[in-house]
Amino acid sequence: MGLATTGSALVATPLTALSDAGTKQSGSEDQSGIKITDVKTYKLYRAILIKVETNAGIAGWGESSPNSTEVIESFVHNTLKSHIIGQDPFNVELIWDTLFWQNHDLGPSGALPYAIAGIDLALWDIKGKVLKQPVYKLLGGSYRKETPAYGGFGVYGGSVSVEKATEKALKLAEKGFKFIKLRMQIREYNMDPIPDFTVKYYEAVRKALPADVELFVDPNEGYTAARAIQIGLELQSIGMKYYESPCPLENHRDLAEVVKAINIPVLAGEKCYTRWQFRDLILEANPDVIQPDLIKAGGITEVKKIAALAQAFFKTIAPHNTKPTLGTAAAMHLMASISNVGPFIEFIETEIYEEVMSVFDNQVEFKNGKLHVPEGVGLGLNINEKRLEKLAK
Ligand SMILES: [Mg+2]
Repeated sequence: MGLATTGSALVATPLTALSDAGTKQSGSEDQSGIKITDVKTYKLYRAILIKVETNAGIAGWGESSPNSTEVIESFVHNTLKSHIIGQDPFNVELIWDTLFWQNHDLGPSGALPYAIAGIDLALWDIKGKVLKQPVYKLLGGSYRKETPAYGGFGVYGGSVSVEKATEKALKLAEKGFKFIKLRMQIREYNMDPIPDFTVKYYEAVRKALPADVELFVDPNEGYTAARAIQIGLELQSIGMKYYESPCPLENHRDLAEVVKAINIPVLAGEKCYTRWQFRDLILEANPDVIQPDLIKAGGITEVKKIAALAQAFFKTIAPHNTKPTLGTAAAMHLMASISNVGPFIEFIETEIYEEVMSVFDNQVEFKNGKLHVPEGVGLGLNINEKRLEKLAK
């Protein structure tokens, strides 16, 4: 929201009065002298990268949803771009509000916050590059340089054999992960399977893993409260320390029952978008650890607010993170700069992301089971544009 001075008082000007689609907004007069000149998108396999260019010759990079990259590309070019051309890239708050509220009718969840996140990451990357600082220093400075990461894989509702699952878990342990998660992938449309297979996987994989590796499960929201509590108590009794997404996020009452019934931390929130859905999740379900995905939930600007909201309830965050390049970098910068970081961050680094990882000259460092915040300027990842242009669809 822009502020206009009237006499001695600062008066908030309604956003709707500030910006119609494609027009310049008051409150956005550039302080840095830098203006956004263009927004470009590059589709890769399971990734879409967004480049925001400026008249200073500095560009920032972000990424958005890997699902339906055509939809995101269209959203960026046909809906969001016109709002930000000519804007000062330092105005991340005004730009976020404008992009969100001007397009709210297109769906406040899903593609809109996903696309906004891609632009938001690029704006923070620009800010860091202009100021020659890593993003975490602009977000509040350094609480930490590294965060334990967990590796995980899916068992596709029980269709991956227990032997194969054990093999995959051992490979992750060999890579150095000290936390491993089994994604049961039961899903909301196939709830409470009979017979239940979660304990069988947990027991077999647990037995094979070294004792210093924590194993936990994520039923992928496939349980009603009764089943989630039954399985959660059983796993708790045989040593499981964390329980992720037992119930659908469309049913906070069931999740609240699970949180009350079991004594290990319940993690939830990977499918929540924006601060308002996290507010409802916390107030109605009260999970112990919340899991915003920086790309889904609206970018660095929005998840910084979500982290503060969580902090007000003395909850930690453990980001959902399935994007190994810019998404991981953005999450690490935020995690570096806040106090209420949970036990770990998710990290997916599989062959399906080889293409997007190959367009960067460097990666977020994973060492001894931990991810390290990039120390370069901006988000700290260097893109090889020639290679990207060759590969992009
Ligand atoms: Mg999950």
